[in-house]
Amino acid sequence: MADLDTVARESTSHDGGAVDFRAREHHEFLVASRQALESANLQLALARLGDTLGQRNRDAYAAYAGSAAMRELARGIKDRTLAELDQHLEALEASVRRNGGEVHYAADAADARAIVLELLKRRGCRSVVKSKSMTTEEIHLNPALQAAGIETVESDFGEYIIQLAGQRPSHLVAPAVHLTVGEVAEVLSRHAPEPLPADATALAQFARGQLRAKFAAADAGITGANFAVAETGTVVVVENEGNARFTTTLPRVHIAIAGIEKVIPRLADLPVFLKILARAATGQTMSIYTSLLSGPRRAGQANGPEEFHLVLLDNGRTRILEGPLRESLFCIRCGACLNACPVYRAVGGHAYGGVYAGPIGAVLTPLYDGLTQNEHLPHASSLCGACQAACPVKIAIPELLIKLRDRLHEAQHGSGMLESLAYRTWGVLLRSALGYRVATWLASRALGRSQASSRWLRWLPGALGGWTSSRDFPAPARERFRDWWRREGDRAPATPPRGLDSGGRA
Ligand code: SF4
Repeated sequence: MADLDTVARESTSHDGGAVDFRAREHHEFLVASRQALESANLQLALARLGDTLGQRNRDAYAAYAGSAAMRELARGIKDRTLAELDQHLEALEASVRRNGGEVHYAADAADARAIVLELLKRRGCRSVVKSKSMTTEEIHLNPALQAAGIETVESDFGEYIIQLAGQRPSHLVAPAVHLTVGEVAEVLSRHAPEPLPADATALAQFARGQLRAKFAAADAGITGANFAVAETGTVVVVENEGNARFTTTLPRVHIAIAGIEKVIPRLADLPVFLKILARAATGQTMSIYTSLLSGPRRAGQANGPEEFHLVLLDNGRTRILEGPLRESLFCIRCGACLNACPVYRAVGGHAYGGVYAGPIGAVLTPLYDGLTQNEHLPHASSLCGACQAACPVKIAIPELLIKLRDRLHEAQHGSGMLESLAYRTWGVLLRSALGYRVATWLASRALGRSQASSRWLRWLPGALGGWTSSRDFPAPARERFRDWWRREGDRAPATPPRGLDSGGRA
């Protein structure tokens, strides 16, 4: 076996090739987005999202009378837990040890990889099965394991597909959502004795057959953790396929890797999160399998690992905890904000470049990987608020994106004279009734009337041209609401006349 520390911390592969452990596997967001928009297959795959997962999420909230209160409750638990995170982590550590497990703290991704590789080395593990875990994606565990000569197999069906395809997940809970059934058949057929049909059931059966043998032969199972209960030292893994249960019961070593924000104080808090997680992620009232894992197998138990290790990952989280974007740590990785987001549904997950995609990815990737390196991500949002409405813990994602935009602007431009003059002028106009009237009168006469036929501006000058380079800008109304109201006032119909919207826009 290669020197594991070297493998984990540097970029040396088992076969001598280069291994890239950087958090960012970036291509330029705008270029990647354009390519995504031009891909007919991807557009076909993404078109399903809003009507399937997105709609199921909305229906599930609507059908559950207590959903609003439950979401508030979950948000409150997250908020209070993060306020005393050190105490809850200490309690978690003590509980896991009491159960016979070990706890390891990883400062960053390289640290986490080194810890896992050392544990595998210590127990002579040569093969690993994994259940789906975004945290292991975040630390780029698979390349490190493979570079150390450890056979690593993803056992979630979607993850299995993309591992064989040599790709990254494009969605938090549906990692292969960017592929059509035909493309999945093509990928799996490369590993089958004969071509497989483009039939979802047949493809799942093929994968199941392949994976059963891997579970039985694996030395170690690696999982993430949806939650880690401080009171009982219990790691909770939620899934729908049963693969995580095999991963945590058959191999002799179980390693769970969790971000430090995954801790919840009490077992009594767990149902709150289980009720909202499944509804948000897939529209189910409850996921099919919820495994509560409290340490290694005990005397008299038929199943379970001989060793249990919990790796708690910081990787920038304590820095985020102290800052104004702390709320991003409430995230329970359900993927609902992705399904709701018009930008994600147009460009898919890979365009975001980092491990985390969609609205929450546009917040997390700049935080974990650097803001200026990911300058387009905070802008990859219309700020429509659909993400916040879908989020089970009501994270104010639009506000977080605006804060990131502010920071980015400060970092890149400082406060430019021209811009601060423009905003000062705008501020004066908004504070002065007369100034506002004159400005809107001028805008409606100069722009509104000249563009009355199309109602759209196709070109804007200078820096404003960034908007019109890829879309039109709505022209001001040709008649201000104030003027319309003065003229029509008392005899105004319940609905504005044809050609005039409720805001008086022509
Ligand atoms: S931000 Fe909210 S909706 Fe998005 S993945 Fe996290 S918990 Fe789910």
